[in-house]
Amino acid sequence: MYDVIVIGAGAAGLMAAGTAARNGSKVLLIEKMERAGRKIRITGKGRCNLTNARPPEEFAEQVRTNADFFSVAFAEFNNRSTIRFFERQGVKLSIERGERVFPQSGKAWDISNALEGYCKDFGVDFLYKTRVDEIVAVGGKVLGVNYTNRRGFPRREEAPNVIVATGGVSYPATGSTGDGYGFAADLGHSIEPLRPSLTPLVTSHPQRQYLEGLLLKNVRAVLHIDGEPVREEFGEIGFSDRGIEGAVALRMSREAVDALIDERRVKIVLDMKPALTEEMLRDRIRREMAEMQPEEFFSELLRKLVPKPMVVPLAKELDVHSKLYISKVTDAETERLITVLKGMTFPIVDYAPFEYAVVTAGGVRCDEVNKYTMESTLVSGLYFAGEVLDLDANTGGYNLQIAFSTGRLAGMLKK
Ligand SMILES: Cc1cc2nc3c(=O)[nH]c(=O)nc-3n(C[C@H](O)[C@H](O)[C@H](O)COP(=O)(O)OP(=O)(O)OC[C@H]3O[C@@H](n4cnc5c(N)ncnc54)[C@H](O)[C@@H]3O)c2cc1C
Repeated sequence: MYDVIVIGAGAAGLMAAGTAARNGSKVLLIEKMERAGRKIRITGKGRCNLTNARPPEEFAEQVRTNADFFSVAFAEFNNRSTIRFFERQGVKLSIERGERVFPQSGKAWDISNALEGYCKDFGVDFLYKTRVDEIVAVGGKVLGVNYTNRRGFPRREEAPNVIVATGGVSYPATGSTGDGYGFAADLGHSIEPLRPSLTPLVTSHPQRQYLEGLLLKNVRAVLHIDGEPVREEFGEIGFSDRGIEGAVALRMSREAVDALIDERRVKIVLDMKPALTEEMLRDRIRREMAEMQPEEFFSELLRKLVPKPMVVPLAKELDVHSKLYISKVTDAETERLITVLKGMTFPIVDYAPFEYAVVTAGGVRCDEVNKYTMESTLVSGLYFAGEVLDLDANTGGYNLQIAFSTGRLAGMLKK
């Protein structure tokens, strides 16, 4: 018989299983996919931004829900602990722009292999292609799990402790299909409604199809809800067939999605020239125009101001023909150009579904979980770790840190 069964071999489950085994527990890790860490392998565009090296005291600002709950797990195992942990496992790390930490190899699988190796070093038993169907509990105490084995037969494994580390519902092809919410609800837990977060935002802007594939760097974007500016971000914004993405839009998506669910009006106003005041931009445009030949086109002026793929949509937005001679551009058109460069408005009408969301907002309510142990306050021996909890954060390595910190704390259970 095992001391601990961990459900899910993602970032949180692997950390929890390895930690419990290191502390002397006999651990079984059950994973329904054919191998561990499927999601870790696609993080950070295959490079895995495993944490963020900014000072630990600044971390809480990046956690979007229940930061106070998370602070206990983070104090136990913070971003510096994560860095030390992987370096001890032999993974060389590097710190990039925005204090984001990656494996030096640029290969996300180094991170999942290190976690799997950690578990194996301490004797964790793995069952792959095995789906847990139910957590068995009687009289408010965990007894074990019912599962379907790799040949499709139902089986039971007993243990006094079960750690649910089944992740959220985003990118379900990686195995994260939300099973943990069902287990928790069956045992009396409340689930905070699930919403996609860090997800592309869908715009109704008439030029949207011309913008697909465009990436704008160093822009300032302001999210407006019901006409009020609520969040300002600097950085990259991209356009794809899924909607508006890039770090700036993803960071705004948390508030935007909640506002859309509440049927409020959402828009993003984009400043493509944040370093220039309107006056400076006017001078710059006048200078560019003065240096141009009269028979050059308006599009050539735009080309000097924005990346090439932006030229046609910008001309359409301004309702100025791109082949208009520069000598024919009126003062009013120049002023419109300044207004649009400093504030192009994108009405947001929808958001991309969970299939494209980096994380799931919502989940097992934190006020029914002991923040010092990650144990359920309703069922003894039941623990939660990772994205299954109502915890989510910004992009930048913070979500994996949530998985590592909560996984570590859950794995420190007393057997
Ligand atoms: C495309 C993408 C890129 C990302 N990039 C980053 C990044 O660079 N940095 C960052 O910090 N975060 C990133 N994230 C977010 C981060 O990957 C997740 O927050 C984190 O992996 C969650 O870990 P977890 O262990 O809680 O859940 P998961 O990684 O989802 O693991 C859950 C595991 O449980 C298994 N499971 C589920 N149900 C059952 C069941 N019934 N029986 C058995 N097994 C089950 C699943 O198969 C899965 O392996 C990214 C996410 C995505 C989708």
